[in-house]
Amino acid sequence: MEKMRAAVFYGAGDIRMEERPIPKAGPGQMVVRIDYCGVCGTDMEAYKYEIVKPVIVLGHENVATVYEIGEGVEGFKVGEKVLCGPPSYCKEHCTACSQGRPNICEHGFPRTNGIGGPDGGYAEYMLIDDPMHTMIIPVPEGVDEKDAVLFDVICVSLHALRKSNFKFGDTVAVSGTGPIGLAAIQIAKAAGARTVVAIGTSDPKKEICMKYGADAYINAKTCSDLGRAVREAIGNPDGADVTLECAGNQASLLNCVMQVAKSGSQVMLVGIVGEPLSQLSLAPVIPREIELICTFTYTPEEIRMYLEMLAKKKISFPGMVTDIIALEDCVEKGVDRKDRTGQIKILIDPSI
Ligand SMILES: [Zn+2]
Ligand SMILES: [Zn+2]
Repeated sequence: MEKMRAAVFYGAGDIRMEERPIPKAGPGQMVVRIDYCGVCGTDMEAYKYEIVKPVIVLGHENVATVYEIGEGVEGFKVGEKVLCGPPSYCKEHCTACSQGRPNICEHGFPRTNGIGGPDGGYAEYMLIDDPMHTMIIPVPEGVDEKDAVLFDVICVSLHALRKSNFKFGDTVAVSGTGPIGLAAIQIAKAAGARTVVAIGTSDPKKEICMKYGADAYINAKTCSDLGRAVREAIGNPDGADVTLECAGNQASLLNCVMQVAKSGSQVMLVGIVGEPLSQLSLAPVIPREIELICTFTYTPEEIRMYLEMLAKKKISFPGMVTDIIALEDCVEKGVDRKDRTGQIKILIDPSI
C-alpha cells in the first residue's frame, strides 16, 4: 500500500507527523493531491484552544490536483486543478441553502475537510467524501495556484462588501491589516470606493496597504484622535460610509462603531470577535442607528467570481503569501509560529 505523510492534530498543542496509506476513492468519492494548503487563523486557534475536534488532519484552504475519481462521480478529470474549501453544499435542501445562502448552512462545516469530520490538507493527499456536494471548484487556466488558494481569505472580504450597502463612490474604512483586511482594501478600491482608509496597529503594514489601494493608513495605537484622523483622510465630517471590521477584536470593533462609522451607516463584522464585549455600550450607538451586520464566509459563486477576476487580472494580491513551508514545519513555522514579523499568509507545500 502506498504511503503518504500527514500532520495529524491530536488536540491542543499536539500535532504529529505520521505515515498513512494514501486514501482510496470509493464509490462517490474522490482523492486529490495537495499542491498548497493555507495555514488559517482557524488552524492556529485549533492548535491553541482545540476549537476543532481531534483526531483530524487540519487544513481547509486547499488547491489540489485530482488524483483518483470514484465510481459515479461526475464533472471532474484526473489531473485537473481544483480548490477544495469550506463550506459545503447541502444535500438536505435546508432553508439557508434553498435561499441561496450556503455559507450559513448548518450542514456545511461538519462536512468540510480539515474542520469537520473529514481529514484536511496538512497531508500529501486528501479524500473528498462527497465531491458533488462539497465546494470543489476548478481553477481556470492561467491562474497561479498560490493566488487561487487565497480564496478563503479574499472571498470573506468579497462577500462582506457585496453584502453591505456599499455603492460606487462611497468612502470605506477597513480596520485590521491582516490578510482579510488587506483583501478588503483592494476589493473596495476595485469596486469603486472614492476613498479607502486602512486602520492598523503596525506601521510596517502601511506599505502593503497603500500598494493594495488604501489612500491613507492610520495607526490606531499611536494616533491620538482616530475619529478625526479618519474624517480628515476621507474628507467627510461625518465618518465612513461603509466600515469593515476585519481585525476580530474588541478594540477594533469599538473604534469602528464609536469613531469611524458615520451615523446611519453599516459596520460589517468580518473578523470574528471571540472575546466577550465588556467595553461596548450600545447606549451611544442606538441613537445613531449604526447597523452592525454579521457576515460569514462566502458562496461558491463568490469563489468563481474571485477566480474569474484573477484570470482576467482585475485583481491580484502580490506579496500576500510571505511563507511557503514544508509539512514537517507546520507547527513551528505555521500554527505555533512565535515571531510573526513581516508574515502575512503562510502556505504549506507538501512536496517540499
Ligand atoms: Zn481558513
Ligand atoms: Zn444547507
